[in-house]
Amino acid sequence: MPQPSSAPPDALMSRAHDALQRVFGYDAFRGDQAAIIEHVLRGGDALVLMPTGGGKSLCYQIPAIVSQGTCVVISPLIALMQDQVDALEQLGVRAAFLNSSQSLDQRRSVEAALLAGELDLVYLAPERLQGAAGLLDRAPISLFAIDEAHCVAQWGHDFRPDYLGLTLLHERWPSVPRIALTATATEETRREIVANLHLEDAAVYVSSFDRPNIQYRIAPKQDARGQLLALIRDEHPGEAGIVYCLSRRSVEQTAQWLCDRGVDALPYHAGLDAAIRAEHQARFLREDGLVMVATIAFGMGIDKPDVRFVAHLDLPKSIEGYYQETGRAGRDGLPSTAWLAYGLNDVVQQRRMIEDGEGDRQRKRAQTLHLDAMLALCETVDCRRRQLLAYFGQHSEPCGNCDTCLSPPTSWDGTVAAQKLLSTVVRLRTERNQSFGAGQIIDILLGRETERVRQWHHDQLSTYGIGHDLTEQQWRGVVRQLLAQRKLHVRGEYGVLDLTEDSNAVLRGEVSVPLRTEPERVGRSRRKTTSAAAELDAPQQDLFEKLRAWRKQTASEQGVPAYVVFPDATLAAIATARPADLEELSGISGVGQAKLSRYGDAVLAVVAEG
Ligand code: ADP
Ligand code: ZN
Repeated sequence: MPQPSSAPPDALMSRAHDALQRVFGYDAFRGDQAAIIEHVLRGGDALVLMPTGGGKSLCYQIPAIVSQGTCVVISPLIALMQDQVDALEQLGVRAAFLNSSQSLDQRRSVEAALLAGELDLVYLAPERLQGAAGLLDRAPISLFAIDEAHCVAQWGHDFRPDYLGLTLLHERWPSVPRIALTATATEETRREIVANLHLEDAAVYVSSFDRPNIQYRIAPKQDARGQLLALIRDEHPGEAGIVYCLSRRSVEQTAQWLCDRGVDALPYHAGLDAAIRAEHQARFLREDGLVMVATIAFGMGIDKPDVRFVAHLDLPKSIEGYYQETGRAGRDGLPSTAWLAYGLNDVVQQRRMIEDGEGDRQRKRAQTLHLDAMLALCETVDCRRRQLLAYFGQHSEPCGNCDTCLSPPTSWDGTVAAQKLLSTVVRLRTERNQSFGAGQIIDILLGRETERVRQWHHDQLSTYGIGHDLTEQQWRGVVRQLLAQRKLHVRGEYGVLDLTEDSNAVLRGEVSVPLRTEPERVGRSRRKTTSAAAELDAPQQDLFEKLRAWRKQTASEQGVPAYVVFPDATLAAIATARPADLEELSGISGVGQAKLSRYGDAVLAVVAEG
């Protein structure tokens, strides 16, 4: 039964504070954490919108620890439940999971522990809820936590039908408080979460979605893999990162291409054998400095704190997805990079996928709106972060840490260029009843004598060769930006260009068309690598490396990811402080009681030796 009580707020919160220090080794709550925890402990429902790395888990883990009974965490991330439970056990928290990967015996023993009130938390996959209802009826449940709550939203990008079944929670156990958490939240998604989970009476906590430590950069695609390799070699050598590609094929090819050039890269996509997938995921989590090349099937719930870069080689389908994917960089708060390369073909391909895809008109319309917002982000001359946050309804000043802030793009008056291009499209249509893709249109503008130009007599068109003032690359930029501005439309299997309602205003000279200047090949100043040790002096650095070696050994003996033992930030703090005894060690952020007694002596020995 729900725990929340008549205890005065200070008593409740002093228990919560105690758990924060004793279990997690942290000094103070961040942002809304204290308010959320107090609300939940008093029996209220809550909807928590916080960016990745913001500290959502504590919002239910602390209530789970200080309440009597068990917190049931609904999570779609079966493959990560073991790691989540391992991490909690390292902290001395009693946790377990129930999912389809377990044997009957394992499940029975978790059920027995749950019924005996011996668990603080139990993780449950949504599809198991119905089946587990009878069990939960008999168990002392203190709280339901619905993780990745955006999975209930059909509008969003991660919809899981099983999440709709979560209405059972408040129908069957109306007195148990619920806390729903997500890192994705546009107004639409938020509304759907409230409606589909019946959280109308929940207190809503919206944090700032800003991730100031992530540097956002979007570059025109030239030679995408080469650009990626430069990013890895110049800025993130030997560091962990995720590279997102659209198709399974390009995942495989890119991973291989990187390996051939000496980068430790692994592929991950839904077409790989489940065992290989699990192995690659485990290696990425456990080993230092691997690059995961993946489709978006990878990443949800990956809480590896030291992912230093997230790169997109293809245009994401929506800002929501993009922000969630890039948010996987730098959860530890240290400097990280989100880098995206995009080009004309991305726009053509994405529009075609929407056109040819499944779904009714309404669904396609939603997809088109998502894509348009993403394109607008790519083509903006404004601060990227400002535009990203505006998408989530939040305000920001120019950030100083994105490509447009760091080297502001110039814009030029592309009205005449647009008119040349659009009138070529018009002429082909009206004079010849023909439509062509961007490649042929650009060839005509540049006055090229290709086989296809001769074959179609396109050198007879009055616009043939009128585009000499721009390069091919620049023309591709014009097409891309006109598509993004909806002044041009692309359709069909061959990506043929077509006019839109707005095209006519351009042709009649009624609107001007500002375009972003295409940068030359984007060479960036080399940046210092951004590891946790960047701030350390030489002897500290030396000790830090020794601590990491100890951590690697310790983690592999226990079969858990290294960061579960201690994150980099904690090791760096130890290397700086050089604690002489357990008392001093316990004062370091991230060293709680369980880890102090488990690892304290070993850590002190490494420090004494170093
Ligand atoms: P989220 O689930 O929102 O992505 P996490 O709960 O994984 O974020 O928290 C991100 C990191 O911040 C974790 O390493 C976590 O231990 C740490 N953290 C959370 N709350 C605090 C706090 N109050 N003080 C210090 N570190 C915190
Ligand atoms: Zn900026």
